[in-house]
This record gives sequence, structure tokens and C-alpha cells, in this order.
Amino acid sequence: MARFPFFGGDTSRRIAEADSVAVIGLGRFGSALALELVSGGTEVLGIDLDEDLVQSLNGELTQVVRADSTKYEVLKQLAIDEFDRVVVAIGGDISASILTCSVLRSMEIPVIWAKAVDDRHGLILEQLGVHHVIYPEKDMGRRVAHLVRGAALDFIEVAPGYALVKSPVPSTIQGIPLGDTALRKKYGVTIAAYHHEGGSWTNADNTTVLQTGDTILVVGPTKDAEGFAQLR
Ligand code: ATP
Repeated sequence: MARFPFFGGDTSRRIAEADSVAVIGLGRFGSALALELVSGGTEVLGIDLDEDLVQSLNGELTQVVRADSTKYEVLKQLAIDEFDRVVVAIGGDISASILTCSVLRSMEIPVIWAKAVDDRHGLILEQLGVHHVIYPEKDMGRRVAHLVRGAALDFIEVAPGYALVKSPVPSTIQGIPLGDTALRKKYGVTIAAYHHEGGSWTNADNTTVLQTGDTILVVGPTKDAEGFAQLR
């Protein structure tokens, strides 16, 4: 059972007033995103055409509604126009994704996020004025490629050509205060944070001395950060 016992504009309006997000399309991507938002304390209105999906998420999200998001009147009735942030997580049915985004744009939603399955889909969404177009498959594929290639434990390219890499600490800089390693000059990177085995993450500074078994967060141009993570 949903925590909000009845569907419709009034309930959605109440959700929209809080720290809230509407997620349209509750497939693997949309439902994972919606559940993560809820676990972080955000109220989530989930919308999907599929009755079984709606049933399965009933009680997990703040409210879940079975509805066709391509119809203006339907979204209006759900008070979607009162949300500041809406995520469109429809991929396979590109026309449904585009129609939904176009309705949301006509409602002047301040921030729309939408998933694209490929570059052409993404381009149309961008041309529609969607504020954030995301490419989950492409981005995850690229990210995993970096993990497969190197010693990185995690890799995020925060902007084209600039990355954050989690890796073991190379032996070349162990036992020396970071301020004496000339890291930026030699390797073009910065160590932002570290943790000793069993410890918690701590910001690094010039006096930090890293040891065998430590894990570090390296920030810098992708090539440099990745190259540094591969040092032994
Ligand atoms: P995923 O990879 O996240 O599982 P997908 O990329 O395969 O999803 P789709 O299957 O097209 O994407 O869409 C995801 C969800 O969006 C599905 O659960 C589908 O029922 C829902 N959906 C599609 N069209 C509409 C619509 N017009 N209104 C509401 N929900 C929709």
C-alpha cells in the first residue's frame, strides 16, 4: 500500500510541496533511481503505464500511479506542473519519451532530466530544451572500460577530459608527506582524499603520509589521473 492512500492531484500537490521529484517510467533505470531518491529522504511520485510495475512499487515510493505520461491532461491532473524536478526514464519507446518531454516543457517544469538511448534520441531531447540529458548505457560502458583497463577501483569522468579515480596508493609516494611528493608537477594530479585500511575517508593535505594498503581519490585530467592510478 502506498503511504498516500488516494491518487490524484491533491496528493501529488502535497508531494510536490516537499523535497520531491516525479519519476516517469519505472523500468530498471527509473525504479532504481526512484528507490535511491526515497532512501535518501526525497519524496517520489512514480508514474508508469505498466500496472504490474506500479503494483510492485506500491508502498516503496511515496506515491505510484499508473498513467500515460504523453498526455497533457493526465500530467496536469497529477499536478506534475507543480514539481520543480521531473525525471523521464523512458528509453525503448522513443516517441513516448519525446512526447512526455515536450508536455513537460510546455508546463515549464524548471528542471527536467531525461534518459536517452542513443545520440540521436539525446539530440532531440536537447533540442526540445530538456535540461539534463543522460546516457546511462553509454556512460556506464565507458566507465567500466576504464575499470577493466586499469588498477582503478572506481572511475568517474566528472567532465569531458577530467576524472575522479579511486585507486590503491602507488608505492612511489608512500611514507612521504604529500607536500614533498611534487605530485601535481610530476603527475598532473591531486590527491583529494584517502582512507587507511579499516578507517574512514579523510581529506588529504600537504602533511598527509600515505601507507601500503591505503585507498586514495585522485583528481585530474583523465589521462593523468588514470596513468597515476596504474603506477605500482
Ligand atoms: P529500462 O532499461 O530502464 O528498463 P527501457 O530503456 O527499456 O527501460 P522503456 O521500457 O521504454 O525503457 O521504458 C521504461 C518504462 O517506461 C517502462 O516501464 C514503460 O512501461 C514506461 N513507459 C513507457 N511509455 C510510457 C508512457 N507513455 N507513460 C508512462 N510510462 C511509460
